[in-house]
Amino acid sequence: MKQILNNLIKEAKGKHIENKKYFDKLKKKQPKNLDYIMQELHQAEFKKTDCLTCANCCKTTGPLFTAADIERVSKHLKQKPQQFITQYLRIDEDKDYVLQSVPCTFLDAENYCMIYEVRPKACREFPHTDRKKIQQISDLTLKNVAICPAAYNIVEEMKKRMPL
Ligand code: SF4
Ligand code: SF4
Repeated sequence: MKQILNNLIKEAKGKHIENKKYFDKLKKKQPKNLDYIMQELHQAEFKKTDCLTCANCCKTTGPLFTAADIERVSKHLKQKPQQFITQYLRIDEDKDYVLQSVPCTFLDAENYCMIYEVRPKACREFPHTDRKKIQQISDLTLKNVAICPAAYNIVEEMKKRMPL
């Protein structure tokens, strides 16, 4: 898997300009049924993706924690929200709460999330490829293509299915 991920980073770099142009066009000229097609592409890709053999998102980029995430996760860990913040979080340059370190503290040795049922919203939604109006998060998607093999494949499929 490490080799696959190394190749992914290389390939994603090679595709960056092409992908950026594609998303620039997507913003101007939205294909009919874009949201519907994204749902289809996302579901088809994740049907064949085993995140437990990857976990690259949890290993390389942590989620941001909303106030509701902090409330929910700290309760689950039987901590006070402030205790949880002090132990695990820091404030980043966008003034969001993020993890103090990556790989994520809550990822176990077998790539399972130790707080799966209460994990942050950002983790539940990653890589955001089934989001409505995906053209509005093009910078994030371009970044995620270099982290997530599934996002990479979904963007490749987008270009085939909806040439612009
Ligand atoms: S990087 Fe993508 S494929 Fe890998 S575990 Fe995360 S969501 Fe799944
Ligand atoms: S909280 Fe769980 S799903 Fe989110 S990054 Fe950490 S291990 Fe991964």
